[in-house]
Amino acid sequence: MPELPEVEITARRIGSALTGAAVESAVAPGMVALKTFDPPLSALTGMEVIGTTRYGKMPVVQFEGGPEGRLDLLVHLMSAGRLQVFDKRASLRDRASRVLVRLTDGRELRLREFGTKQRAWAKLLRSGEVEADEMVSTLGPEAWPAPPVPDLAKALDQPRLLHPLLRDQRAIAGIGRQWADEILWEAKLSPFKRGADLAEDDVAAIYDALPVLGSAIEHYEEVIGDEVPNKLPLPLKVHKKEGEPCPRCGATIEAVFYSEHQVNYCPEEQTGGKVMKDRRLSRLLK
Ligand SMILES: [Zn+2]
Repeated sequence: MPELPEVEITARRIGSALTGAAVESAVAPGMVALKTFDPPLSALTGMEVIGTTRYGKMPVVQFEGGPEGRLDLLVHLMSAGRLQVFDKRASLRDRASRVLVRLTDGRELRLREFGTKQRAWAKLLRSGEVEADEMVSTLGPEAWPAPPVPDLAKALDQPRLLHPLLRDQRAIAGIGRQWADEILWEAKLSPFKRGADLAEDDVAAIYDALPVLGSAIEHYEEVIGDEVPNKLPLPLKVHKKEGEPCPRCGATIEAVFYSEHQVNYCPEEQTGGKVMKDRRLSRLLK
């Protein structure tokens, strides 16, 4: 699942690959993927890619040079989407294709989605409309670079468990399941602690842990070439590492499983030695 660091490297690589490229045509084979109709996708024809940016976990590709002025393609990759540049056009039979932006040099910017569900989406917006879009305007402060401590304290002051709170894009933007595990492990805080119960030191610990997102981006800058692969080399230390020794203290990393995700933590350093109940098991035993 692409989160802030993965989307950041994706946006950077697409920006360097495509800036200056001209659009020949654009189509949306995934009918439900394009969530806007005005301007139409065909408005991109003849426009030039001028760069990329990112809001939280959403990459944006920026275009200019048409009668519409500047247009931005805001993309949400959800859990299985990928935004990639290909040297050749997709086969029309490629069922993973959601949005295709064909360039005059033969290359293609492709929003693809793996699996059977169609959840990834794109919106083509006029200049200024991106910031006003509800998916962007409701975002909390960006998780990287870390917001100032008072802003972070305010964002986390909610009576909810830290793990879902960190994943709530309206509280803080850019974090998902895997990086929530990593941030809480870095901060030595329990994923089951409530945001509203955080002491000043706890907020400071999260503040100090958030740069792990920046370290991941640096890691990707080093190991990823011009093209972002389907599977990124994620520098994760605890996420999905249950049964393995904690890289810091050696205790066994534990997991709590939910229907669609899992939470990993070091019981020694994060939950005071307590191993949390596995909800999957306890449900079976009822
Ligand atoms: Zn540990």
